[in-house]
Amino acid sequence: MMVALTVQGQAKAVWVVVTLAVGALSAAVVVRGVERMWRASAERIGAAAEALEQGRPPLHLLHAEPALMARAERRLLEAVDLVHDQLAALTGQRDEFEAILRGMIEAVVVTGARGELVMLNGAARRLFALAPDADYAGRDFVELCRDPRLQDLVSRTQQSGGALVTTSELSIQYPAERWLQVSAAPVRAGAGAGAAWVFVFHDITQLKNYETLRTDFIANLTHELRTPLAALRGYAETLTEGVEDADTQRRFLGIIERQASRLSRLIDDLISLSDLERGLAALKFETLDPARVVGEAVELMRGQAERKGVVLEQRSDAELAQVSADRDRMHQLMLNLLDNAIKYTPPEGRVTVEAHAAGDPDGKAGAGVEFVVSDTGEGIPATDISRLTERFYRVDRARSREMGGTGLGLAIVKHIVQLHHGKLRIASRLGEGTAVTVWLPAAGSASLAAAG
Ligand code: ADP
Repeated sequence: MMVALTVQGQAKAVWVVVTLAVGALSAAVVVRGVERMWRASAERIGAAAEALEQGRPPLHLLHAEPALMARAERRLLEAVDLVHDQLAALTGQRDEFEAILRGMIEAVVVTGARGELVMLNGAARRLFALAPDADYAGRDFVELCRDPRLQDLVSRTQQSGGALVTTSELSIQYPAERWLQVSAAPVRAGAGAGAAWVFVFHDITQLKNYETLRTDFIANLTHELRTPLAALRGYAETLTEGVEDADTQRRFLGIIERQASRLSRLIDDLISLSDLERGLAALKFETLDPARVVGEAVELMRGQAERKGVVLEQRSDAELAQVSADRDRMHQLMLNLLDNAIKYTPPEGRVTVEAHAAGDPDGKAGAGVEFVVSDTGEGIPATDISRLTERFYRVDRARSREMGGTGLGLAIVKHIVQLHHGKLRIASRLGEGTAVTVWLPAAGSASLAAAG
């Protein structure tokens, strides 16, 4: 009995030991499994974090963990996906914004609440002569823009605390003389880190210059028209009231005739100039012999030179290259230059017209022909030479009028030369004479081909 009991007791103990061993083994297996699962999970989360850091979308790997864990992980990955997409969209927007700012011709400057620079584009750097790559963030914009009037406008705008966009025009002296249209817009809270004002500067110098040219032109034109018209009306009225003396009558009629032809020359020149400027006078290019252009012009002006007692000569190189030019416009050009030369040369003086072979006067490759109209006349002061081709510019206004000049001749010449891809040079010495040189490229030359 005792023996049987002991055997039973031993068997029980073995079972307990076996059960414990199996339990421990299973627990170890489970722990290993859980550990592997956590490690795999941690690796996937780590990979997702790394992908986010590097701006890539995370990999969505299939795995067989318990549903609870897999769900949590999937949610995390979806959240990572979302953040990644938003980041990509924001980066795209930022690149687009930077490209727009870079491409803008307007200068854009963003300042903070204390006037410190937050951002500026390339055009702003160029406008304010700032270094292209230097970091100006945080610097006082008023200090950077240097021009006193602009500094005043920027500080007043920043202190105003206004909520509306303001636009004003002002001329600045530094770093260069310019007209600017300045728009200032307050930035709404939350629109950008630290941004308080956006300034947009539009360079309107060219526009202002055109405006000045236009108003000057109208003022000049009114003046040019008023003088002959007043004379016409005055003499016509006097004649209508009755003038007994036949000589006086003839003199008055002569004045009326001269003023009327001056008006008609003025209108002709104005139409010519406007057609040339607006490109309405389509040029008919043909190959012309330069010596012939000179010869025909001299023949046309010979009478005028003789009446004035001025000797008119021509000299052209033999075997000159031909030029591609509009015959009528070339005549107009030569006649204008010859008319001036004869007008401003006293009797017994000499006017010479020449045509020579010459390379491009600016030293560029290209064969061409130089037409030179020179005289031994009164000459032009050095300070006036650069302005002679402006409309209505004259050295001596009264004298030009007295000679029947319109003040438009050289402006017309300049346009004709430009339309022929040529170059104009005026050299003069007071009391000694003037030489006007027009260089035209030879027909079929490289410079004509380059000019298109
Ligand atoms: P204008 O009708 O007054 O001659 P232009 O445009 O032809 O107008 O010339 C402008 C000005 O240039 C003239 O008023 C004159 O003062 C000066 N000028 C032009 N050519 C000569 C020249 N050969 N000699 C002296 N002055 C000249």
